[in-house]
Amino acid sequence: MTTDTDSLACDAIVVGAGVIGCAIALELARGGRSVIVVDSKGGPGHGSTSASSAIIRFHYMHLTESALAWEAGHRYMQWERHLGAVDPAGMAQFIQTGGMVLEGGGYDLERMVSNLRTLGVDVRELSGPEIAEMYPGVDPGKYGPPALPDDDHFWADADGELVAFHVEACGQMDDPQLAANNLAYAASVNGAQFLFNRSVSDVIIEGARVAGVELSDGSRVVAPIVVNAAGPWSSQLNRMADVLSDFTMTTRPMEQEVISVPAPESFNLSNGTVITDPDVGTYFRPHQGGTIIVGGLEADCDPVVFLDKPEDAIESVSAETWNVQSLRLARRIPDLVIPGRPSGIVGVYDVTEDWIPIYDRTSLDGFYVAIGTSGHAFKQAPYVGVLMALLIDEVEAGRDHDNDPVVAVAPWTGVEVNVGHFSRLRDVLPQRGMG
Ligand SMILES: Cc1cc2nc3c(=O)[nH]c(=O)nc-3n(C[C@H](O)[C@H](O)[C@H](O)COP(=O)(O)OP(=O)(O)OC[C@H]3O[C@@H](n4cnc5c(N)ncnc54)[C@H](O)[C@@H]3O)c2cc1C
Repeated sequence: MTTDTDSLACDAIVVGAGVIGCAIALELARGGRSVIVVDSKGGPGHGSTSASSAIIRFHYMHLTESALAWEAGHRYMQWERHLGAVDPAGMAQFIQTGGMVLEGGGYDLERMVSNLRTLGVDVRELSGPEIAEMYPGVDPGKYGPPALPDDDHFWADADGELVAFHVEACGQMDDPQLAANNLAYAASVNGAQFLFNRSVSDVIIEGARVAGVELSDGSRVVAPIVVNAAGPWSSQLNRMADVLSDFTMTTRPMEQEVISVPAPESFNLSNGTVITDPDVGTYFRPHQGGTIIVGGLEADCDPVVFLDKPEDAIESVSAETWNVQSLRLARRIPDLVIPGRPSGIVGVYDVTEDWIPIYDRTSLDGFYVAIGTSGHAFKQAPYVGVLMALLIDEVEAGRDHDNDPVVAVAPWTGVEVNVGHFSRLRDVLPQRGMG
Protein backbone atom coordinates (compact mmCIF):
# COMPACT_ATOMS: atom_id res chain seq x y z
CA MET A 1 0.00 0.00 0.00
CA THR A 2 2.93 2.39 0.55
CA THR A 3 5.05 4.11 -2.09
CA ASP A 4 8.45 5.60 -1.23
CA THR A 5 9.33 7.49 -4.41
CA ASP A 6 10.30 11.15 -3.91
CA SER A 7 8.74 12.74 -6.97
CA LEU A 8 5.27 11.65 -7.91
CA ALA A 9 2.46 12.65 -10.24
CA CYS A 10 -1.14 11.47 -10.30
CA ASP A 11 -4.68 12.54 -11.24
CA ALA A 12 -5.82 13.28 -7.68
CA ILE A 13 -4.21 13.70 -4.25
CA VAL A 14 -6.22 13.03 -1.10
CA VAL A 15 -4.77 14.61 2.04
CA GLY A 16 -5.79 12.44 4.97
CA ALA A 17 -6.22 8.68 5.27
CA GLY A 18 -9.04 8.76 7.80
CA VAL A 19 -12.35 7.10 7.08
CA ILE A 20 -13.37 10.05 4.89
CA GLY A 21 -10.14 10.31 2.87
CA CYS A 22 -9.97 6.53 2.32
CA ALA A 23 -13.61 6.45 1.18
CA ILE A 24 -12.92 9.25 -1.31
CA ALA A 25 -9.73 7.59 -2.54
CA LEU A 26 -11.65 4.36 -3.16
CA GLU A 27 -14.31 6.04 -5.30
CA LEU A 28 -11.84 8.23 -7.23
CA ALA A 29 -9.76 5.13 -7.97
CA ARG A 30 -12.86 3.16 -8.95
CA GLY A 31 -13.69 6.00 -11.33
CA GLY A 32 -10.41 5.44 -13.14
CA ARG A 33 -8.24 8.18 -11.61
CA SER A 34 -4.73 7.55 -10.38
CA VAL A 35 -4.81 8.53 -6.69
CA ILE A 36 -2.19 9.23 -4.05
CA VAL A 37 -3.24 9.55 -0.42
CA VAL A 38 -0.87 11.36 1.94
CA ASP A 39 -1.07 11.04 5.72
CA SER A 40 1.32 12.19 8.41
CA LYS A 41 0.41 9.23 10.61
CA GLY A 42 1.48 5.60 10.26
CA GLY A 43 -1.61 4.02 8.69
CA PRO A 44 -5.29 4.40 7.72
CA GLY A 45 -7.64 5.73 10.38
CA HIS A 46 -4.93 6.68 12.87
CA GLY A 47 -6.32 10.24 13.24
CA SER A 48 -9.69 11.17 14.74
CA THR A 49 -11.31 8.11 13.14
CA SER A 50 -9.52 5.88 15.65
CA ALA A 51 -11.46 7.50 18.53
CA SER A 52 -14.86 7.27 16.85
CA SER A 53 -17.80 5.73 18.68
CA ALA A 54 -18.73 4.46 15.19
CA ILE A 55 -22.49 4.71 15.78
CA ILE A 56 -24.55 4.15 12.66
CA ARG A 57 -27.88 5.99 12.99
CA PHE A 58 -30.09 7.84 10.58
CA HIS A 59 -31.94 10.53 12.52
CA TYR A 60 -31.06 14.10 11.68
CA MET A 61 -32.85 17.44 11.72
CA HIS A 62 -32.24 17.78 7.97
CA LEU A 63 -33.67 15.29 5.52
CA THR A 64 -30.56 15.44 3.31
CA GLU A 65 -28.31 14.27 6.13
CA SER A 66 -30.73 11.49 7.06
CA ALA A 67 -30.73 10.39 3.42
CA LEU A 68 -26.94 10.41 3.26
CA ALA A 69 -26.67 8.39 6.49
CA TRP A 70 -29.32 5.92 5.29
CA GLU A 71 -27.47 5.17 2.05
CA ALA A 72 -24.09 5.04 3.80
CA GLY A 73 -25.51 2.80 6.55
CA HIS A 74 -26.59 0.23 3.98
CA ARG A 75 -23.02 0.12 2.73
CA TYR A 76 -21.72 -0.60 6.25
CA MET A 77 -24.40 -3.29 6.65
CA GLN A 78 -23.12 -4.97 3.46
CA TRP A 79 -19.51 -3.97 3.90
CA GLU A 80 -17.86 -6.56 1.66
CA ARG A 81 -20.30 -5.77 -1.15
CA HIS A 82 -19.50 -2.06 -0.81
CA LEU A 83 -15.74 -2.61 -0.76
CA GLY A 84 -15.62 -5.27 -3.46
CA ALA A 85 -12.58 -6.70 -1.64
CA VAL A 86 -11.68 -8.65 1.48
CA ASP A 87 -8.93 -7.03 3.50
CA PRO A 88 -6.31 -9.59 4.67
CA ALA A 89 -5.96 -7.50 7.86
CA GLY A 90 -9.54 -8.47 8.77
CA MET A 91 -12.92 -6.93 8.06
CA ALA A 92 -14.77 -4.49 10.31
CA GLN A 93 -18.26 -5.71 11.20
CA PHE A 94 -21.60 -3.96 11.49
CA ILE A 95 -23.33 -4.86 14.76
CA GLN A 96 -27.06 -4.16 14.66
CA THR A 97 -28.17 -3.05 18.12
CA GLY A 98 -31.03 -0.72 17.17
CA GLY A 99 -31.05 2.89 18.30
CA MET A 100 -33.31 4.97 20.53
CA VAL A 101 -33.61 8.74 20.79
CA LEU A 102 -35.10 10.09 24.01
CA GLU A 103 -36.85 13.44 24.15
CA GLY A 104 -35.21 16.51 25.71
CA GLY A 105 -32.60 19.16 25.11
CA GLY A 106 -34.68 20.88 22.44
CA TYR A 107 -34.43 17.86 20.13
CA ASP A 108 -37.28 17.95 17.61
CA LEU A 109 -38.26 14.27 17.67
CA GLU A 110 -41.27 14.86 15.46
CA ARG A 111 -39.13 16.30 12.69
CA MET A 112 -36.58 13.50 12.91
CA VAL A 113 -39.29 10.86 12.78
CA SER A 114 -40.89 12.62 9.82
CA ASN A 115 -37.53 12.67 7.97
CA LEU A 116 -37.01 8.98 8.68
CA ARG A 117 -40.51 8.04 7.50
CA THR A 118 -40.03 10.11 4.33
CA LEU A 119 -37.04 7.88 3.57
CA GLY A 120 -38.98 4.71 4.34
CA VAL A 121 -37.06 3.94 7.55
CA ASP A 122 -39.01 1.79 10.00
CA VAL A 123 -39.52 3.89 13.18
CA ARG A 124 -41.42 3.04 16.34
CA GLU A 125 -42.57 5.77 18.72
CA LEU A 126 -42.40 4.78 22.39
CA SER A 127 -44.08 5.97 25.60
CA GLY A 128 -42.23 5.83 28.94
CA PRO A 129 -43.69 2.39 29.89
CA GLU A 130 -42.86 1.07 26.41
CA ILE A 131 -39.23 2.23 26.82
CA ALA A 132 -39.02 0.35 30.12
CA GLU A 133 -40.65 -2.73 28.61
CA MET A 134 -38.29 -2.80 25.63
CA TYR A 135 -35.15 -2.01 27.68
CA PRO A 136 -35.76 -3.05 31.31
CA GLY A 137 -32.32 -1.74 32.29
CA VAL A 138 -33.26 1.80 31.26
CA ASP A 139 -35.06 4.26 33.53
CA PRO A 140 -37.35 6.41 31.32
CA GLY A 141 -37.56 9.17 33.98
CA LYS A 142 -37.45 12.81 32.96
CA TYR A 143 -34.44 14.36 34.73
CA GLY A 144 -33.59 17.21 32.37
CA PRO A 145 -32.58 19.78 31.48
CA PRO A 146 -28.99 18.51 31.69
CA ALA A 147 -27.15 19.67 34.80
CA LEU A 148 -23.83 19.15 36.54
CA PRO A 149 -23.62 17.09 39.75
CA ASP A 150 -22.96 20.21 41.86
CA ASP A 151 -26.42 21.48 40.87
CA ASP A 152 -29.27 20.29 43.16
CA HIS A 153 -31.41 19.75 40.07
CA PHE A 154 -29.06 16.93 39.03
CA TRP A 155 -30.21 14.84 42.00
CA ALA A 156 -33.92 15.71 41.85
CA ASP A 157 -36.52 12.94 41.40
CA ALA A 158 -37.85 12.30 37.91
CA ASP A 159 -40.46 14.75 36.76
CA GLY A 160 -42.59 12.30 34.76
CA GLU A 161 -41.49 9.98 31.97
CA LEU A 162 -39.87 10.58 28.62
CA VAL A 163 -41.11 9.53 25.20
CA ALA A 164 -38.72 8.27 22.54
CA PHE A 165 -38.44 6.79 19.08
CA HIS A 166 -36.65 3.62 18.15
CA VAL A 167 -35.05 2.52 14.89
CA GLU A 168 -34.31 -1.18 14.63
CA ALA A 169 -31.82 -0.77 11.76
CA CYS A 170 -29.28 1.30 13.75
CA GLY A 171 -26.05 -0.11 15.11
CA GLN A 172 -22.32 0.36 15.22
CA MET A 173 -19.16 -0.72 13.45
CA ASP A 174 -17.01 -2.78 15.79
CA ASP A 175 -13.69 -1.18 14.83
CA PRO A 176 -13.57 2.25 13.13
CA GLN A 177 -9.83 2.14 12.46
CA LEU A 178 -10.15 -1.25 10.80
CA ALA A 179 -13.04 0.11 8.71
CA ALA A 180 -10.70 2.85 7.42
CA ASN A 181 -8.07 0.20 6.75
CA ASN A 182 -10.65 -1.81 4.77
CA LEU A 183 -11.45 1.23 2.64
CA ALA A 184 -7.73 1.89 2.09
CA TYR A 185 -7.17 -1.72 1.11
CA ALA A 186 -10.07 -1.61 -1.38
CA ALA A 187 -8.71 1.68 -2.76
CA SER A 188 -5.26 0.10 -3.19
CA VAL A 189 -6.83 -2.88 -4.99
CA ASN A 190 -8.19 -0.25 -7.40
CA GLY A 191 -4.73 1.27 -7.82
CA ALA A 192 -4.56 4.00 -5.15
CA GLN A 193 -1.18 4.56 -3.51
CA PHE A 194 -0.61 5.62 0.10
CA LEU A 195 2.20 7.74 1.52
CA PHE A 196 2.23 7.31 5.31
CA ASN A 197 4.40 9.22 7.77
CA ARG A 198 4.57 12.08 5.24
CA SER A 199 3.05 15.49 6.00
CA VAL A 200 1.72 18.02 3.53
CA SER A 201 3.44 21.31 4.36
CA ASP A 202 2.17 23.43 1.47
CA VAL A 203 -0.30 23.45 -1.40
CA ILE A 204 1.14 24.20 -4.84
CA ILE A 205 -0.89 26.66 -6.88
CA GLU A 206 -0.34 27.56 -10.52
CA GLY A 207 -2.45 30.45 -11.78
CA ALA A 208 -6.04 29.91 -10.62
CA ARG A 209 -5.62 26.18 -10.14
CA VAL A 210 -4.14 23.79 -7.62
CA ALA A 211 -1.14 21.88 -8.96
CA GLY A 212 -0.21 19.53 -6.12
CA VAL A 213 1.26 19.47 -2.64
CA GLU A 214 4.66 19.90 -1.08
CA LEU A 215 5.67 17.50 1.68
CA SER A 216 7.65 18.39 4.79
CA ASP A 217 10.67 16.43 3.47
CA GLY A 218 10.78 18.86 0.51
CA SER A 219 9.42 16.41 -2.06
CA ARG A 220 6.36 17.17 -4.18
CA VAL A 221 3.35 15.29 -5.43
CA VAL A 222 1.80 16.93 -8.47
CA ALA A 223 -1.85 16.60 -9.54
CA PRO A 224 -4.63 18.82 -10.93
CA ILE A 225 -6.95 17.75 -8.11
CA VAL A 226 -6.33 17.91 -4.35
CA VAL A 227 -8.93 16.87 -1.76
CA ASN A 228 -8.71 18.17 1.79
CA ALA A 229 -9.83 15.26 3.98
CA ALA A 230 -7.56 16.29 6.85
CA GLY A 231 -10.15 15.91 9.63
CA PRO A 232 -9.48 18.22 12.59
CA TRP A 233 -6.40 19.53 10.77
CA SER A 234 -8.61 20.75 7.88
CA SER A 235 -8.31 24.47 8.61
CA GLN A 236 -4.50 24.25 8.46
CA LEU A 237 -4.70 22.81 4.95
CA ASN A 238 -7.30 25.37 3.84
CA ARG A 239 -4.98 28.13 5.00
CA MET A 240 -2.13 26.61 2.95
CA ALA A 241 -4.43 26.69 -0.11
CA ASP A 242 -5.68 30.19 0.80
CA VAL A 243 -9.29 29.23 0.04
CA LEU A 244 -11.12 30.51 3.10
CA SER A 245 -12.23 33.95 1.89
CA ASP A 246 -15.66 32.84 0.58
CA PHE A 247 -16.45 30.26 3.31
CA THR A 248 -19.47 31.26 5.41
CA MET A 249 -18.27 29.06 8.28
CA THR A 250 -15.08 27.86 9.95
CA THR A 251 -13.79 24.40 10.89
CA ARG A 252 -12.22 24.12 14.32
CA PRO A 253 -10.80 21.23 16.39
CA MET A 254 -12.90 20.45 19.48
CA GLU A 255 -11.77 18.05 22.20
CA GLN A 256 -14.10 15.15 23.00
CA GLU A 257 -13.93 12.74 25.91
CA VAL A 258 -15.72 9.38 25.71
CA ILE A 259 -15.76 7.41 28.95
CA SER A 260 -16.00 3.64 29.27
CA VAL A 261 -17.72 1.83 32.16
CA PRO A 262 -18.48 -1.85 32.84
CA ALA A 263 -21.89 -2.81 31.43
CA PRO A 264 -24.37 -4.26 33.94
CA GLU A 265 -26.31 -7.40 33.07
CA SER A 266 -29.40 -5.28 32.44
CA PHE A 267 -27.77 -3.30 29.60
CA ASN A 268 -24.99 -4.80 27.50
CA LEU A 269 -24.28 -5.77 23.90
CA SER A 270 -26.86 -8.58 23.99
CA ASN A 271 -29.78 -6.56 25.39
CA GLY A 272 -28.85 -2.87 25.10
CA THR A 273 -29.12 -0.35 22.28
CA VAL A 274 -27.56 2.90 21.06
CA ILE A 275 -29.19 5.69 23.08
CA THR A 276 -29.20 9.41 22.36
CA ASP A 277 -30.15 11.00 25.67
CA PRO A 278 -30.48 14.80 25.38
CA ASP A 279 -32.53 14.76 28.62
CA VAL A 280 -29.31 14.36 30.61
CA GLY A 281 -26.86 15.37 27.83
CA THR A 282 -25.22 12.09 26.80
CA TYR A 283 -25.16 9.45 24.13
CA PHE A 284 -24.14 5.91 24.99
CA ARG A 285 -23.99 2.46 23.57
CA PRO A 286 -23.00 -1.03 24.66
CA HIS A 287 -19.50 -1.89 23.51
CA GLN A 288 -17.55 -5.09 22.95
CA GLY A 289 -15.71 -6.41 25.99
CA GLY A 290 -18.67 -5.89 28.33
CA THR A 291 -18.54 -2.11 28.58
CA ILE A 292 -20.71 0.90 27.79
CA ILE A 293 -19.15 3.96 26.17
CA VAL A 294 -20.59 7.38 26.95
CA GLY A 295 -20.05 10.62 25.04
CA GLY A 296 -21.42 14.13 25.41
CA LEU A 297 -24.03 16.10 23.46
CA GLU A 298 -22.62 19.55 24.26
CA ALA A 299 -25.39 20.43 26.71
CA ASP A 300 -25.49 24.13 27.61
CA CYS A 301 -24.02 23.47 31.08
CA ASP A 302 -21.05 21.51 29.69
CA PRO A 303 -17.72 23.18 28.90
CA VAL A 304 -16.85 23.25 25.19
CA VAL A 305 -13.10 22.90 24.56
CA PHE A 306 -11.88 24.29 21.25
CA LEU A 307 -8.19 23.68 20.52
CA ASP A 308 -5.64 25.68 18.54
CA LYS A 309 -4.50 22.37 17.06
CA PRO A 310 -5.58 18.73 17.57
CA GLU A 311 -2.26 17.87 19.24
CA ASP A 312 -3.26 20.11 22.18
CA ALA A 313 -5.96 17.63 23.31
CA ILE A 314 -5.48 16.07 26.76
CA GLU A 315 -4.12 12.53 26.70
CA SER A 316 -6.63 10.76 28.90
CA VAL A 317 -10.14 11.24 30.24
CA SER A 318 -10.33 13.93 32.94
CA ALA A 319 -11.71 13.25 36.43
CA GLU A 320 -14.38 15.95 35.85
CA THR A 321 -15.79 14.39 32.69
CA TRP A 322 -15.59 10.92 34.19
CA ASN A 323 -17.59 12.08 37.21
CA VAL A 324 -20.28 13.92 35.24
CA GLN A 325 -20.84 11.37 32.49
CA SER A 326 -20.75 8.27 34.69
CA LEU A 327 -23.26 9.82 37.11
CA ARG A 328 -25.51 10.84 34.22
CA LEU A 329 -25.41 7.30 32.91
CA ALA A 330 -26.26 6.00 36.39
CA ARG A 331 -29.44 8.10 36.33
CA ARG A 332 -30.49 6.35 33.12
CA ILE A 333 -29.18 2.88 33.99
CA PRO A 334 -29.77 2.45 37.73
CA ASP A 335 -27.90 -0.92 37.87
CA LEU A 336 -24.66 0.74 36.84
CA VAL A 337 -21.69 0.28 39.15
CA ILE A 338 -19.17 3.10 38.70
CA PRO A 339 -15.53 2.05 39.14
CA GLY A 340 -13.17 4.29 41.08
CA ARG A 341 -10.71 4.73 38.24
CA PRO A 342 -11.55 6.78 35.09
CA SER A 343 -11.39 4.99 31.76
CA GLY A 344 -12.09 6.04 28.19
CA ILE A 345 -10.57 7.86 25.25
CA VAL A 346 -10.05 11.41 24.09
CA GLY A 347 -10.68 12.34 20.47
CA VAL A 348 -11.07 15.51 18.44
CA TYR A 349 -14.00 16.68 16.32
CA ASP A 350 -13.64 19.06 13.36
CA VAL A 351 -16.58 21.36 14.03
CA THR A 352 -18.50 23.89 11.91
CA GLU A 353 -20.84 26.49 13.44
CA ASP A 354 -23.96 24.59 12.31
CA TRP A 355 -22.46 21.14 12.86
CA ILE A 356 -23.08 20.29 9.21
CA PRO A 357 -20.02 19.02 7.28
CA ILE A 358 -18.65 20.78 4.20
CA TYR A 359 -18.49 18.55 1.11
CA ASP A 360 -17.68 20.98 -1.66
CA ARG A 361 -15.38 22.53 -4.23
CA THR A 362 -13.55 25.75 -3.29
CA SER A 363 -12.67 29.02 -5.02
CA LEU A 364 -9.34 27.43 -6.02
CA ASP A 365 -10.04 25.28 -9.07
CA GLY A 366 -9.23 21.62 -8.41
CA PHE A 367 -9.12 22.02 -4.61
CA TYR A 368 -12.00 20.17 -2.91
CA VAL A 369 -12.96 19.76 0.75
CA ALA A 370 -14.62 16.99 2.78
CA ILE A 371 -14.23 18.54 6.21
CA GLY A 372 -16.05 19.92 9.25
CA THR A 373 -17.51 16.49 9.94
CA SER A 374 -18.56 17.72 13.40
CA GLY A 375 -18.46 14.43 15.25
CA HIS A 376 -20.96 12.50 13.17
CA ALA A 377 -19.55 11.58 9.76
CA PHE A 378 -18.09 8.14 10.38
CA LYS A 379 -21.58 6.89 9.52
CA GLN A 380 -21.64 9.00 6.34
CA ALA A 381 -18.20 8.10 5.00
CA PRO A 382 -18.89 5.30 2.50
CA TYR A 383 -21.39 7.43 0.61
CA VAL A 384 -19.40 10.66 1.07
CA GLY A 385 -16.73 8.95 -1.01
CA VAL A 386 -19.25 8.38 -3.79
CA LEU A 387 -20.62 11.95 -3.55
CA MET A 388 -17.18 13.56 -3.61
CA ALA A 389 -16.16 11.53 -6.67
CA LEU A 390 -19.39 12.56 -8.40
CA LEU A 391 -18.91 16.21 -7.42
CA ILE A 392 -15.34 16.18 -8.72
CA ASP A 393 -16.42 14.56 -12.01
CA GLU A 394 -19.19 17.11 -12.52
CA VAL A 395 -17.15 20.19 -11.57
CA GLU A 396 -14.16 19.09 -13.64
CA ALA A 397 -16.55 18.64 -16.58
CA GLY A 398 -17.59 22.29 -16.20
CA ARG A 399 -20.62 22.20 -13.89
CA ASP A 400 -21.26 25.35 -11.83
CA HIS A 401 -21.96 23.46 -8.60
CA ASP A 402 -22.21 26.67 -6.54
CA ASN A 403 -25.27 27.77 -8.52
CA ASP A 404 -26.49 24.45 -9.90
CA PRO A 405 -25.73 21.91 -7.15
CA VAL A 406 -25.10 18.27 -7.88
CA VAL A 407 -28.04 16.10 -6.75
CA ALA A 408 -27.36 12.38 -6.47
CA VAL A 409 -29.86 9.55 -6.46
CA ALA A 410 -28.34 7.00 -4.10
CA PRO A 411 -28.18 3.67 -5.91
CA TRP A 412 -28.68 1.30 -2.96
CA THR A 413 -31.68 3.01 -1.34
CA GLY A 414 -33.08 5.29 -4.07
CA VAL A 415 -32.98 8.36 -1.79
CA GLU A 416 -31.96 11.77 -3.11
CA VAL A 417 -28.99 13.71 -1.72
CA ASN A 418 -28.49 17.35 -2.71
CA VAL A 419 -24.76 17.95 -2.30
CA GLY A 420 -25.49 21.71 -2.19
CA HIS A 421 -26.73 21.18 1.39
CA PHE A 422 -23.07 20.82 2.38
CA SER A 423 -21.90 23.94 0.53
CA ARG A 424 -19.17 26.18 1.97
CA LEU A 425 -21.40 29.10 0.87
CA ARG A 426 -24.57 28.04 2.76
CA ASP A 427 -26.45 30.23 5.23
CA VAL A 428 -25.19 29.13 8.61
CA LEU A 429 -27.64 28.75 11.47
CA PRO A 430 -25.43 28.17 14.52
CA GLN A 431 -26.59 25.09 16.45
CA ARG A 432 -25.01 22.60 18.78
CA GLY A 433 -24.11 19.02 18.06
CA MET A 434 -26.45 16.09 17.92
CA GLY A 435 -24.08 13.31 18.98
C1 LIG B 1 -14.71 10.80 20.13
C2 LIG B 1 -15.41 10.72 18.81
C3 LIG B 1 -16.58 10.01 18.70
C4 LIG B 1 -17.23 9.95 17.46
N1 LIG B 1 -18.36 9.18 17.33
C5 LIG B 1 -18.97 9.06 16.12
C6 LIG B 1 -20.07 8.21 15.96
O1 LIG B 1 -20.50 7.52 16.88
N2 LIG B 1 -20.64 8.10 14.72
C7 LIG B 1 -20.19 8.84 13.67
O2 LIG B 1 -20.78 8.75 12.59
N3 LIG B 1 -19.13 9.68 13.80
C8 LIG B 1 -18.51 9.79 14.98
N4 LIG B 1 -17.43 10.59 15.14
C9 LIG B 1 -17.00 11.40 14.02
C10 LIG B 1 -16.18 10.60 13.03
O3 LIG B 1 -15.36 9.70 13.69
C11 LIG B 1 -15.39 11.59 12.18
O4 LIG B 1 -16.31 12.45 11.53
C12 LIG B 1 -14.53 10.89 11.15
O5 LIG B 1 -13.80 9.83 11.70
C13 LIG B 1 -13.59 11.90 10.53
O6 LIG B 1 -12.78 11.22 9.61
P1 LIG B 1 -11.73 12.05 8.75
O7 LIG B 1 -11.18 11.08 7.78
O8 LIG B 1 -12.37 13.28 8.24
O9 LIG B 1 -10.65 12.55 9.80
P2 LIG B 1 -9.40 11.80 10.46
O10 LIG B 1 -9.71 10.40 10.80
O11 LIG B 1 -8.92 12.68 11.56
O12 LIG B 1 -8.34 11.76 9.29
C14 LIG B 1 -7.66 12.91 8.88
C15 LIG B 1 -6.24 12.48 8.57
O13 LIG B 1 -5.59 13.57 7.93
C16 LIG B 1 -4.24 13.49 8.28
N5 LIG B 1 -3.65 14.80 8.06
C17 LIG B 1 -4.10 15.98 8.53
N6 LIG B 1 -3.33 16.99 8.09
C18 LIG B 1 -2.37 16.43 7.33
C19 LIG B 1 -1.26 16.95 6.61
N7 LIG B 1 -0.99 18.25 6.57
N8 LIG B 1 -0.47 16.07 5.94
C20 LIG B 1 -0.74 14.74 5.95
N9 LIG B 1 -1.77 14.22 6.61
C21 LIG B 1 -2.57 15.04 7.30
C22 LIG B 1 -4.26 13.09 9.75
O14 LIG B 1 -3.05 12.47 10.12
C23 LIG B 1 -5.45 12.15 9.81
O15 LIG B 1 -5.05 10.78 9.76
C24 LIG B 1 -16.73 10.65 16.35
C25 LIG B 1 -15.53 11.38 16.46
C26 LIG B 1 -14.86 11.40 17.68
C27 LIG B 1 -13.58 12.17 17.79
